[in-house]
Amino acid sequence: MGKITGFIDYKRLNEKNKPVKDRVLNYKEFTVPLTEINKNHQGSRCMDCGIPFCHSACPLGNLIPDFNDYVHRNLWKRALEILHATNNFPEFTGRLCPAPCEKSCVLGITDKPISIENIEKNIVEKGFTEGWIKAQSPKERTSNSVAVVGSGPAGLATAQQLNRAGHQVTVFERDDEIGGLLRYGIPNFKLEKEIIDRRVNILKQEGISFITNAHIGKNYAIEKLNDFDAIILCGGATERRSLPTKGIDATGVEQAMDYLTQQTKLLFGKKIDDKQISAKDKNVIVIGGGDTGSDCVGTANRQGAKSVTNFEIMPKPPAHRSKKTPWPYWPLQLKTTSSHKEGCDRNWLINTKEFVTDKNGNLTGLKTIEVEWKIKPGERPELIEKKGTEKIWPCDLALLALGFTGPETSLSDKLGLKLDERNNYKAKNYQTNVPHIFTAGDMRRGQSLIVWAINEGREAARAIDIYLTGNSDLPIKGEGDLPNI
Ligand SMILES: Cc1cc2nc3c(=O)[nH]c(=O)nc-3n(C[C@H](O)[C@H](O)[C@H](O)COP(=O)(O)OP(=O)(O)OC[C@H]3O[C@@H](n4cnc5c(N)ncnc54)[C@H](O)[C@@H]3O)c2cc1C
Ligand code: SF4
Repeated sequence: MGKITGFIDYKRLNEKNKPVKDRVLNYKEFTVPLTEINKNHQGSRCMDCGIPFCHSACPLGNLIPDFNDYVHRNLWKRALEILHATNNFPEFTGRLCPAPCEKSCVLGITDKPISIENIEKNIVEKGFTEGWIKAQSPKERTSNSVAVVGSGPAGLATAQQLNRAGHQVTVFERDDEIGGLLRYGIPNFKLEKEIIDRRVNILKQEGISFITNAHIGKNYAIEKLNDFDAIILCGGATERRSLPTKGIDATGVEQAMDYLTQQTKLLFGKKIDDKQISAKDKNVIVIGGGDTGSDCVGTANRQGAKSVTNFEIMPKPPAHRSKKTPWPYWPLQLKTTSSHKEGCDRNWLINTKEFVTDKNGNLTGLKTIEVEWKIKPGERPELIEKKGTEKIWPCDLALLALGFTGPETSLSDKLGLKLDERNNYKAKNYQTNVPHIFTAGDMRRGQSLIVWAINEGREAARAIDIYLTGNSDLPIKGEGDLPNI
């Protein structure tokens, strides 16, 4: 621990965001970095407590007190080595992780927690700026080959770890670009796509092969994977939930993922298959209050929507940590994102009963009803509609951001793989019921987070390495490939 009184001397500082009026004019990231000295001070707030709860709250087991200390001492390169030891892609988590680590930070009991996520971003960005992040090819190659299906964070982490173990790795992706939901789900204003390209270029230099526009089981025969010694499926969990309600087929009711994907494609001058879904001058209602819904709100405001409204069927969470989720647990708490702050009327405990249309089938409004949840011990909560609370909301674009029901099953059907009780791909230590086929990320655990996808990719790579060679030097969670410092 560098500065014993750091947490007393310095308050938590967050990066500021550019003003709303400026940032909604484009799709660029809009945070303003702290000054160099303030970055060091933020690291010095870490108390290096005896039991760093942050370390165990991070799904990757990031060695947080250690990199905080190096940042405090201005030893950024060492901080980077420590960070990379457990996290292949801190540039993604440093921007997009909900940071469970910060919710379990000991300083957070009495003060604001250490700004761990932002420190992580600063470390990795310094690493790229200084040219410290370079391709690290394995010293020796094995004769084993592995096919990775899907290039989201789980696929990319698996690929990098297996390549480090010397195996020959090929990543297959059905989209025209690498990145999974990082590329065409998460909008550019949250993650500029050059950040993905920068990392993918390094992976290519390290010797990993990438084949895009290869939809395994569709335009790329599954049998072509037979030559690989092992296969890992990291295809995500992208089956969208719909709302089987009157008027669902109206013109103007769209799936959030179609909307977000289109916008990113258009931003990069790419061809889109269908007519553009535009929010310009429209009353937009986003149904669903999660991350995807928030991304739709930010996108609709950038497209020049007349109004943006958000519906959520669940109750409004408390503004502060409730007694039900005491420290160091992840709190059920109201989340107000930068997109919400750009303009959005948020409504909770509301259910959509009908998509109202004109005689031509064009959406004109949403009919809703207020609801409440009846909690009965030992039973599933019951949704009760409140009589007499029906309302029609003018709306010409409704975006369905209702989450995902699980992974697509075309691969499991063709390969004879079992699903678990939640319809995710079933695996034991990432190995499916077909011994040379593994699975990781959202495909195995259901729609989740980037940090979990990276963790699963790392752990699955180790399992595959053991399957191929009998043992593995790849790190286990929280230990990392620790540099010799
Ligand atoms: C709109 C949105 C916003 C989100 N925001 C955040 C956030 O802010 N923070 C956060 O932590 N998480 C966020 N998430 C969740 C996060 O993106 C996912 O948990 C994560 O990307 C899962 O990684 P993955 O590698 O398992 O799968 P994915 O990222 O889904 O990647 C799967 C890839 O497999 C490819 N694929 C599938 N089948 C085939 C096939 N047969 N052949 C070839 N390729 C195939 C797909 O095209 C895709 O590229 C968000 C999700 C969405 C939808
Ligand atoms: S990956 Fe997420 S949980 Fe882990 S240290 Fe970074 S911000 Fe915290």
